Amino acid sequence: MPAVVSKLPHVGTTIFTVMTERARECGAINLAQGFPDYDAPSRLKELVAQHVAVGHNQYAPMIGVATLRERISAKMSGTHGRVFDPEREITITLGATEAIFSAVLALVHPGEEVILFDPSYDSYAPAVLLAGGRPVRIPLAPPEFSIDWDRVRAALTPRTRLVVLNTPHNPTGTVLPPSELDVLAELLRSTDALVLGDEVYEHIIFDGAQHASVMAHPELASRGISVFSFGKTLHATGWRVGYAVAPEQITRELRRVHQFNTFSITTPVQHAIADFLQEAPEHNAGLGAYYARKRDKFLGALRGSRFTWRPSAGTYFQLLDYSAIADEDDLTFAETVLRDAGVAAIPVSPFYASPPRLRVLRFCFAKNDATLEEAAERLRRL
Ligand code: GLN
Repeated sequence: MPAVVSKLPHVGTTIFTVMTERARECGAINLAQGFPDYDAPSRLKELVAQHVAVGHNQYAPMIGVATLRERISAKMSGTHGRVFDPEREITITLGATEAIFSAVLALVHPGEEVILFDPSYDSYAPAVLLAGGRPVRIPLAPPEFSIDWDRVRAALTPRTRLVVLNTPHNPTGTVLPPSELDVLAELLRSTDALVLGDEVYEHIIFDGAQHASVMAHPELASRGISVFSFGKTLHATGWRVGYAVAPEQITRELRRVHQFNTFSITTPVQHAIADFLQEAPEHNAGLGAYYARKRDKFLGALRGSRFTWRPSAGTYFQLLDYSAIADEDDLTFAETVLRDAGVAAIPVSPFYASPPRLRVLRFCFAKNDATLEEAAERLRRL
């Protein structure tokens, strides 16, 4: 057998898969991997079935079904205040993960640097490494997890090709204040660096906060690419449909990789989503209130527990601080919670290159009320 030399020797199985598997083994309530335990809207499911039945079952166009790209453009003119060209600036991808992966492979040359803010979503650094780039990881410190822009300024070099920004932020549930995009724009003005906005939770934002989209920023949009996810907004994470929005020159490069990575995305689902966007234009606008209520239900049910928290500002994740319960690292405490409470959560240290002292776990509240109540009752026993 020839020697198989790993291209990603330090990468194991993602923590989401590991914890979901542990939840299954232990028969625990799974608040680890981020997915709803309720179904996609029934009308949307009907539409998928209809499009399968009428024969939308062959390859979709490489860049995505035209009506879907047009409806995304229409939706974005409401949220972003400008019209994106569906032919030249919008590409349908296999979830946001493919958009990120294809974008990084297309844009980052060997030896170039990519700034990531830790805790960073676990697909970013491997994508950079496979492109031959160098992840430059800037830690965000608990409990605020806010960006220290002086550190960003100090990290910029002539080799910086890309800055990856994720807001609302997974796993911390923080939201970037829109004014900080101005700070980034100013820092990058004299550079050739591009900005990738991972904005999959754009609509899951609470308490009157405004989503700061890279592609809505007057200056960053010309060097930006924003990625989005229908899995998150339509409660259908298994369908794997996302999209990337970027200026023509960047989109052209993205598509060069996308066409050989996934080529094109499931046809009937794209048609169904396009119909649904037209039929239910109010769906996205309701997501903030919908998930704020779930967050409040979960946190309300945790009252009286020894966990402490800052309410999540966006995403469907809530960090809970366990320093009053145990003084062990988060990987160990995640096992304690599994064993003693029968609840699975996600430790945050795997998202850092060099984790600080962390006494928090991430819990997903995209769950039915009964699941949230049962999980909270178990967590109160700790
Ligand atoms: N985005 C999901 C989360 O944060 C995980 C997706 C995955 O398992 N790769 O939990």
